[in-house]
Amino acid sequence: MPNKPKPVQAIKQHQPPKRKLTTAERDYGSNHERYRTQVMQEHPLCQYRGTDCTGFSEHAHHLVRPATGPESYMAVCEKCHQEIHRRERDAM
Ligand SMILES: [Zn+2]
Ligand SMILES: [Zn+2]
Repeated sequence: MPNKPKPVQAIKQHQPPKRKLTTAERDYGSNHERYRTQVMQEHPLCQYRGTDCTGFSEHAHHLVRPATGPESYMAVCEKCHQEIHRRERDAM
């Protein structure tokens, strides 16, 4: 009995995770991390300076979505980031 080639069906179902990322996935993927790091380096101090500001930037707040570069973010401290989003919610 000759050896038949193994069916390729099983292989097709287990393709490597090499698909095209959507814009949203790219936004929160490697680019987001890179931009975030750049924003933090460029702005070690909080750019918002709200009521409870701690002074040092810890978060990168999205100014533009999807982000096109570090300029799409604002470096803010945690307290200010909370305040920004609270204000955004209140404004709605
Ligand atoms: Zn702050
Ligand atoms: Zn934010």
